[in-house]
Amino acid sequence: MAGNGSGSNSGKGTAADKALDAQRRYIAERERGYREQALKLYPWICGRCAREFTRVNLRELTVHHVNHDHDSNPVDGSNWELLCLYCHDEEHSKFANFIRYGGSSENKKQAATHNPFAGLRDALKGSQGGGSNDQT
Ligand SMILES: [Zn+2]
Ligand SMILES: [Zn+2]
Repeated sequence: MAGNGSGSNSGKGTAADKALDAQRRYIAERERGYREQALKLYPWICGRCAREFTRVNLRELTVHHVNHDHDSNPVDGSNWELLCLYCHDEEHSKFANFIRYGGSSENKKQAATHNPFAGLRDALKGSQGGGSNDQT
């Protein structure tokens, strides 16, 4: 018996890529974590407009951090408030005005979508030709 060691090493992605990816996953998992906890703790009702939510439109119910610190997630839920998308937006614009001169600014970069030329060529040649035998 011969041990056949098959080692395929495909290392793609730089260290920076991996770090970014890890951070993204960490944020996503953390977000999902406290959202699930908050939804278990509290009734599915917007804390401001009292709109009720069901499983169908639950995605419109968001978790707001009362002190606006997303790193502050006490398990008793004291920093969470369930708000619908609209009220949540309003809450944040209020806060944005409040900290307007505070210093923490958020820059959102919009990725420009560039559409390369789509070369569509209709190469339809209706050449119907049979082999013509010309015998003299
Ligand atoms: Zn609301
Ligand atoms: Zn919020």
